[in-house]
Amino acid sequence: MKFYLLLVFALPLYSWTNHFLGTYLALKESPELANAKPIKVESFQSFVNKQASELEKVLDSIEEEAKQIVPNYPPRPDSLRFHSTKKENQVVGVLRALRLNPESKLKLFVQEMPGTKRKEKKLGATEVSVYKEDKFLDTLPMFEIKEGSTVTPLQVIATASDEPDYGHDINIWEDSDSEFGKEYKFGILPFGNPKYHYATQAPFHMGFYHEAGIIYTLAPDFKRTYPEIRIHQFTRLAEFAFSKGHDYWGYRFLGWAMHYLEDLTQPYHSTLTPGISTSGALWIEFKSILGFKSGKKEALERLSDRHTAIEHYQYEFLKELLEKGNLSHPMVKSYQEVSLDTKYPSFDFGYPRNVIAFESNQKAEELDERIGKSNYVMAFKEPLVDKTTLQEDEGKEKVNEFLNQLMNSFGSHARNFARYFINKKFTQKT
Ligand SMILES: [Zn+2]
Repeated sequence: MKFYLLLVFALPLYSWTNHFLGTYLALKESPELANAKPIKVESFQSFVNKQASELEKVLDSIEEEAKQIVPNYPPRPDSLRFHSTKKENQVVGVLRALRLNPESKLKLFVQEMPGTKRKEKKLGATEVSVYKEDKFLDTLPMFEIKEGSTVTPLQVIATASDEPDYGHDINIWEDSDSEFGKEYKFGILPFGNPKYHYATQAPFHMGFYHEAGIIYTLAPDFKRTYPEIRIHQFTRLAEFAFSKGHDYWGYRFLGWAMHYLEDLTQPYHSTLTPGISTSGALWIEFKSILGFKSGKKEALERLSDRHTAIEHYQYEFLKELLEKGNLSHPMVKSYQEVSLDTKYPSFDFGYPRNVIAFESNQKAEELDERIGKSNYVMAFKEPLVDKTTLQEDEGKEKVNEFLNQLMNSFGSHARNFARYFINKKFTQKT
């Protein structure tokens, strides 16, 4: 039954608009990373060439383990298995075995703080992403780096934490506009419109784990949200890369996994209809089936406007602070509250669902309410809003206070995750 499904939007979905800035600010305060020695840059091709036969085993064990630990896991068809002895495009072979978009660029690059200039080539959307065009990605300070050059682990992990939004999970469904989507057997897109390519990544970047039981009964497709698949795959690959001395790929895989954790800190990514009770949402749906469409359209607009507004607003605000070098502002500092890290348990496979998504789900309603009370913040639902034309309001301060709490969580979860794997890497080696 396709009951309830249209309540989910078909808009560009970046979650936190940019992950690099948040990850960089959060991990800068983590001594394990801030003091880590620079590492040598290595291409994916060379990593795969050197480790092909071991990778074959690791990819098989990742698949077997996923079947055991990921709820509602759609098993990978055997035809997608990686064979180290097949000499044709092995990079694509690995991407297909992981059921990632095989057109992912995997370019060697670093992102930098706003306003940074480097002598290396500045890259645009078409060089780092699967998109034919993306004006937002074009604005980011991303620079090409060469194989064999050195880079810090912090730069690698922070850069990589933004990368899953460049197309890893685009068009991987049976009803997607791609050949590989038909082979991957993830089923049809659980919600949203398969024609909008951004919508096709949503079920991997959202985790609706804490909705009322009736939602899953009426619309079981909402159980099919899968950030845990990617977190599992990329953390296992990171451990493998570290154990074989490919530190660059160890940190890059960790950054990819971190992206999905960070997405779950966004209340609109852990909560289906913040600010609308389950019974209210079902009533809207029921009326629309009877032919009263306007209630549904309004609910949909309200949800997508607030979701978009908070992401754009937060990004623009933080970017401006960093451009002005205002590093002591509470918004910047909120990523760096190391003292809060210990209020959470240590990382394990259940942490993204039971700790991160649970916490952000609890915060969704209040966030939604505060956004709705600030015309200033709501203006950011439009792209590229001219801030000078906006009227300051009190509601904006209330949104800021709440955002600071969300960024406290973002920072703590990023550090707890990084700390767990980096400590493991050093204990493995000794
Ligand atoms: Zn994302």
